[in-house]
Amino acid sequence: MNIAENISRIIKEIPPSVQLVAVSKTKSNEEVMQAYDAGQRIFGENKIQDMNLKHEELPKDIQWHMIGHVQSNKVKYMAPYVSLIHGVDSLKLLKEINKQANKNNRVIPCLLQIHIAEEDSKFGLSTEESQEIIKLSKDLRSVKIKGLMGMASFTKKENQVAKEFLGLKSLYDKFIQQNIPLEILSMGMSGDYPIAIQKGSNMIRVGSQIFGTRNY
Ligand SMILES: *Cc1c(COP(=O)(O)O)cnc(C)c1O
Repeated sequence: MNIAENISRIIKEIPPSVQLVAVSKTKSNEEVMQAYDAGQRIFGENKIQDMNLKHEELPKDIQWHMIGHVQSNKVKYMAPYVSLIHGVDSLKLLKEINKQANKNNRVIPCLLQIHIAEEDSKFGLSTEESQEIIKLSKDLRSVKIKGLMGMASFTKKENQVAKEFLGLKSLYDKFIQQNIPLEILSMGMSGDYPIAIQKGSNMIRVGSQIFGTRNY
């Protein structure tokens, strides 16, 4: 497993308009640095504590994305530096991010996580809930909803995955038609990013295809 080679293979394969988030959860600083030395600057973590440690110990030009489920009481720990929060799934959480961003004199970019998978195990908002949150977020000055994130069903049925990604792309387009200035559509992981890009993703979150399988 050569991390640098994996990065350049993926970069060559995807259009330049698609951003690659290297998902480094459970991986060591040394492994992150191999990706960094290959030019990668955006990394995703799903636990705030792990992300904080890596942020402290690793180069400061890394952009850290929180891709996991976030508890409101933990937002304060990442508010000073996090560059994108992918998993916003309630107004309560968005309000807390707004409060902590304000304390840090910054605006924190966020994505709304939409429930697109048929399986009901995954987090996320319904279409109606996301509409409502976008409406109510207009008064929140220290957060910016930049786009949507979704995870497809964990299945080998490619047409199922394609259908779910297409559903999220349609919602994204619908918001843009309503003059909501979204820019980021975060969908696609190691197993399904080619399908996600085909369906309109412009940000993929790839872990195991870069760093190898995870031992939890
Ligand atoms: C772990 C994780 C990924 C990356 O998963 P891989 O299959 O290893 O690429 C992407 N998105 C989220 C939200 C994750 O938790």
